Amino acid sequence: MKPYVLIVEDEDALATLLHYNLEQEGYDAAIAHDGEEALLMVAERKPDLLVLDWMLPKLSGLEVCRCLRAAKANADIAIIMLTARGDEPERIRGLDTGADDYITKPFSVTELLARLRAVLRRVHPTLIDETLTCRDIVLDRATRKVTRKGQEVPLGPTEFRLLEHFIAQPGRVFSRAQLMDAIWGTEVDVEIRTVDVHVGRLRKTLNANHPYDAIRTVRSAGYALRAD
Ligand code: CA
Repeated sequence: MKPYVLIVEDEDALATLLHYNLEQEGYDAAIAHDGEEALLMVAERKPDLLVLDWMLPKLSGLEVCRCLRAAKANADIAIIMLTARGDEPERIRGLDTGADDYITKPFSVTELLARLRAVLRRVHPTLIDETLTCRDIVLDRATRKVTRKGQEVPLGPTEFRLLEHFIAQPGRVFSRAQLMDAIWGTEVDVEIRTVDVHVGRLRKTLNANHPYDAIRTVRSAGYALRAD
């Protein structure tokens, strides 16, 4: 069964972005636009994980968290709190909200997905599939190891994240801008060329000792992991 994630966020653009990416990653996702709606939706169908914004209309994220934690039945809902820069994570942690993790805005979708998996792994270990496969390439998220034809492929952290992004949707072409957003986040100043450099490194390491290219360059469109 797919893990069910409820996104509680009043910024429509961010909520939609998270919803889209979670569904792409194989989660069942839904959106609540304020704190009250969140509690109603939880009562209707209990999520495995809540992505909960701190600043919300009606009830704040903190209040939602406390309401949920007050009921024993909700003790196993994993909660990731989204906070704004300047909220000082130390201060928030000190409030003892009962959240399992905190992410400061702005963040990249990749970072959120990684933290979400880490929290789910802790709270609902059976829900998480850690291995992604495309042809002869296997990526293990738990050990952060990649193999091709059973041989280990030593990747740097950025190349690992790139491959993780590609292998979630084998064959799909990602533009440089999409890769930039996914790997570095929308607010970080990264040049387009940086994407090419890291895809180049990923390709070189993946292809070492292998006869054919695992990555496809699509002229003026972007890059994809070969699925055929
Ligand atoms: Ca908000």
